[in-house]
Amino acid sequence: MHQFRYVGNKLFCEGVAIETLVKKFGTPLYVYSQGTLAGHYQKLDAAMSGVDHLICFAMKSNSNLSVLRTLANLGSGFDIVSDGELHRVIKAGGDPRKCVFAGAGKTASEIEFALKQNVYAFNAESEPELERINTVAARLKKIAPISVRVNPNVEAKTHSKITTGTYEDKFGIAFEQIEGVYARASKLKNLRLRGVQMHIGSQITETTPFEQAVRKMLPLVTKLKARHALEFFSIGGGLGIVYKPALASGSEAWWKTAAAKNILTPQKYADRLLPLLQPLGMKILMEPGRFISGNAGILVTHVEYVKRTGRKNFVIVDAAMNDLIRPAFYEAYHEILPLAKKNAPAISSDVVGGVCESGDYFCKDRPLPKFVAGEHLALMSAGAYGFVMASNYNSRPLTCEVLVHGKKFAAVRERQAMKEIWSGEQVADWLK
Ligand SMILES: *Cc1c(COP(=O)(O)O)cnc(C)c1O
Repeated sequence: MHQFRYVGNKLFCEGVAIETLVKKFGTPLYVYSQGTLAGHYQKLDAAMSGVDHLICFAMKSNSNLSVLRTLANLGSGFDIVSDGELHRVIKAGGDPRKCVFAGAGKTASEIEFALKQNVYAFNAESEPELERINTVAARLKKIAPISVRVNPNVEAKTHSKITTGTYEDKFGIAFEQIEGVYARASKLKNLRLRGVQMHIGSQITETTPFEQAVRKMLPLVTKLKARHALEFFSIGGGLGIVYKPALASGSEAWWKTAAAKNILTPQKYADRLLPLLQPLGMKILMEPGRFISGNAGILVTHVEYVKRTGRKNFVIVDAAMNDLIRPAFYEAYHEILPLAKKNAPAISSDVVGGVCESGDYFCKDRPLPKFVAGEHLALMSAGAYGFVMASNYNSRPLTCEVLVHGKKFAAVRERQAMKEIWSGEQVADWLK
């Protein structure tokens, strides 16, 4: 399905001109395509159909209730990292029994809530955590389903802030220690060893690191399955997406050309991994976040000023790093497109926000059509790790989010009212 495209010279999301949404909801504005979300989920689901599997959408990438509901309606489970995320799943009508609870810092109260909601498994990341889960479960007279996150120590070839599967990272338990950990965990009475998990990093754009990690894990998983009657093997998330060019990605024609190019597609992923996974005879869990949500959203912003200094052309927009922090945080690339296509000559530009930080930029020295104040532009592929990382820094309200479905659209999160920014704060009595 082809979801963000120009119709004439106007940028559309599915059947709706983005311009229409800007008039109605203002900017900055996140716009999500339901068809793209569903399409990516279904593509991966179909590619993995050769094995009993469950996709647990990594909702930390985008946790809007309507995004979750879209995926829950397709049968998706969720990879959660806090009790707040579990509350969101329930609120959105998702099934806690299809949730896996990840994260290295689970508190006792989070564990209690997740146990009461009967999550599918806790992905434990340390032995003290296993002991804590056991203690909480004993107190509640419950048996906690467990898997341990294995750090397979493979290089994922991605940005250092999103690699997780080497011994330099805080995640999981070292490969060599896993058998001992399972043996000790099997003696904890209120745990049920249900599976084993790995996740090597994010935005991985080739199949080789996944294949290397799975190959390394296979003998271990086989042994653990035999010893502890494990039911599932979670191969994590991390499937990368195309940030450039962002426009076409998602159409059937695009997937066909992507298959011929050096682009990770669900089919290539499945072709490499299924022959390795099928002989295990286990349920395979996946935890993709970005792959499902990344290309499904854009951030639309208004050009406030164009400022030329010495050598530079600054395009100052009304979105900023508090709305989309990825460029500042990960040096991430987002394609920038005008809402109304223009023939203006390209000029080297920095697109920046109004926050008082020199890290507050969306691109530097990029050839872009010459923008003028009053125009709008779209930061593409902002559906993952976009709004979820937004903050009120500089006391800027959280933006509005809109979901588009064909010709229908709805604000799925209202723009934050100014007074909500300080709701919950007060002036201490003695200052009055
Ligand atoms: C963040 C994370 C994911 C999702 O990563 P993506 O790159 O968005 O697919 C999956 N599993 C775990 C354990 C994670 O921490």
